Amino acid sequence: MTGPGADRTTTPADDHQGTALFAELARSVVALAAREQLRSFALPYPRSAQRVLDRMVLYCLDRGWAPPRSVPEVMAWCAEHTAGGPLFQVPAEFLSPEARLIDPVGRLPSRICLELASHGPQGQVEQEAVDLLTDLAARCGSAERYSRCRRFLADRPVIGQRDPFSDGSHWNPALWKRVKDLYEPVPEYLLSSRVLALCGTCGLPGLSFGRRAAGPGTWCESEHCPPGVHFRLIRDPGRTLLLRRSLRIFLCLPGPTEFAALAELSRAGIGHDLVPAALGAHFVHTLAAAPYLLRTYDRLEPALLASRITNTPVDATADTLVVVPRRQADRPGYRSAFATALDDDCRRRTMLTTPDELVRQIGILHSSRKGNAHA
Ligand SMILES: [Zn+2]
Repeated sequence: MTGPGADRTTTPADDHQGTALFAELARSVVALAAREQLRSFALPYPRSAQRVLDRMVLYCLDRGWAPPRSVPEVMAWCAEHTAGGPLFQVPAEFLSPEARLIDPVGRLPSRICLELASHGPQGQVEQEAVDLLTDLAARCGSAERYSRCRRFLADRPVIGQRDPFSDGSHWNPALWKRVKDLYEPVPEYLLSSRVLALCGTCGLPGLSFGRRAAGPGTWCESEHCPPGVHFRLIRDPGRTLLLRRSLRIFLCLPGPTEFAALAELSRAGIGHDLVPAALGAHFVHTLAAAPYLLRTYDRLEPALLASRITNTPVDATADTLVVVPRRQADRPGYRSAFATALDDDCRRRTMLTTPDELVRQIGILHSSRKGNAHA
């Protein structure tokens, strides 16, 4: 993890044993969930699960604690123990102390687990989303075709029983041919009594456990929808297709924020172009000499977001506006944790903002550039 050439993609917290173990556990939880083994624990386990059990045993023995005896027990600990609790003691500047890897209600990888499993050189889930979109851009051949396909995916995490355009939109077989491989049958782990529940707010899958409205004891993939929202229940969803999970979380979830930000720019008469091989990145053209870079995310963990911005530069010199939903930016400590976790160079040219603040922030950046030019 700290080998030569890896310095840029590690953070001080990666050298902390509990943190490194928590991150390895996140990757194992994702691997088990991908094989539908998070509840059944059918053998054989992926090698990563066996390895993390061995590491967990050593970690506990070194500290004089009773170690876990099996992979299922390690996974039970992931639903029970928090990042900041006595077992892992992950520093609060790296991860929210109350973060859990397995959601205790959904019994599935939590959003924080998916964010952490995407962190660093061994990261997986967000990288898969980037790779799938990069392949799609190559298949599309033109920026306009790619932009249309990408918007289709961002708006449609679920494809209905009849056909992908059953919402009344114009049937477009060429578009469907390009994107259909990114959809898959509904996995067992999202079914409860053969029913697929779709959240009435975010449109993503949830688990309603027989209830019609969100509340205590229910769960949806976005993890932020308010109680009382109705689920759409699909019984025996044999012909329903779901967008791959990496794209649901890293493309569909930030979609509304990205499209709200672009709408604000268009309203202000500011031009923008999509950067194909990146998630939610656009160049923004103003009267300034060089374009600004806009990057949109919906991330729960500000330090992991900062690491992503620092370590996956789309343009290592552009002034960058990182747009997140207001509900994230307004969380206590979110903006300062994000700024602290950026490296010095990145901090100087990066600004965290929200769709409704974006145009004003561009004005501020523009004036400060002019001031610098005159200084
Ligand atoms: Zn929801």
